[in-house]
Parts: sequence; C-alpha cells; structure tokens
Amino acid sequence: RPRVGILALQGDVREHARVFAELDADVRLVRRPEDLSLIDGLVLPGGESSVIDKLARAFGMREPIREAIAGGLPVYGTCAGMILLADRLENPIAGQQTFGGLDATVRRNAFGGQVESFEVALEVPVLGAPPVHAAFIRAPVVVDCGAGVEPLAALADGRVVAVRQGAILATAFHPEVSGETRFHALFLRTLRAR
Ligand code: GLN
Repeated sequence: RPRVGILALQGDVREHARVFAELDADVRLVRRPEDLSLIDGLVLPGGESSVIDKLARAFGMREPIREAIAGGLPVYGTCAGMILLADRLENPIAGQQTFGGLDATVRRNAFGGQVESFEVALEVPVLGAPPVHAAFIRAPVVVDCGAGVEPLAALADGRVVAVRQGAILATAFHPEVSGETRFHALFLRTLRAR
C-alpha cells in the first residue's frame, strides 16, 4: 500500500485522509521533518496558504519539504496546496513564501472572497466521464505555465484550474470535499508507478 503523507499544520487534512483511506492507502500525518522519510507521496491540503507557510517555517518544515519536492517526491496540492507548490505567486501577501516545484505563476483568491465560492461540473480529459464536481472556495488559478506543465482542466473562460508536472499534481478546487476520488486515485497511480 502506498504511504501517503498529509501535511497536517492547518487546513482540510481530515477530508483528504478520508478519501485516501477509502482508496486503501496508508495515510500518515506529516508534522515533523523526519515524517517525510516515511512516505511515498505528500499532500498539501486546502486551507490558508500564508498560514501553512508560516507554520511550516516555525516547525522547521519549509526547507525539508522544498528539498523533498525538488528531489522528486510526488506531491498533490489542492487550493492552498496549489499555491504552496507554485514557483511564482502573482499576489502573495507580505512576506509569503511557497515551497515551489511547480513551474507556474498562480494568482491567489482569483475569484474573490468566501461568498464568491462556487461549484461546477468540470471536464477533466485525463479522468474521463463523468465531469468532476469541483468546489472552488477562495480558489486560485494558474495564470502562466512553464513548458513542462500540462494543463489538466480549464473553466469555460479558459482559466486553468488543474495541472500536472511530472510527479506534481495540483488542483485549484477541492475534490476531497465533494465525494470525488478520481484525482486522489490518479495521485496513487503516480506513487505506485515509482
Ligand atoms: N485563498 C486561500 C489561500 O490563499 C486558499 C483557499 C482554500 O484552500 N480553499 O491560501
């Protein structure tokens, strides 16, 4: 069974844990640098990216996570997690840093605040039918991708909301809150392939 670590500093850790448990993965919560050596892949949950960034630095997790991602550890980031994976942020809050690894520019809160949250049926060709029921909650978008980044899904207006780059997967929305398991299953296939 693939060992999936979920960065458990802040955010929707429990929702991810539930989906991976349902898919029969071995779920581990990651809070200390040494936890990173016990996992085959890492999830960066949704939440508040600037808070997760601050806590990661306070707990001495920032550099170990950066190095693990740069060293090829598969990572899946949802929403705040996508922000934390971005090499570049269009609108960081003061002093905000990311782990990086994803050669893309991401815009935080691209749709406005909490009241502008919405759900859509999103076509995701790599997952096939039916469309993904995607919940966008103060969600980011990918405004610019490097050559090695593959867009996996876009909104009707063309804005990219899911990407893959090697073993890095990122979605601007939260499949883990809407009963959707196919992105998590796709991530597990990446782990098993290694
Ligand atoms: N807007 C949040 C941020 O900047 C992300 C929101 C979410 O993860 N649902 O981190």
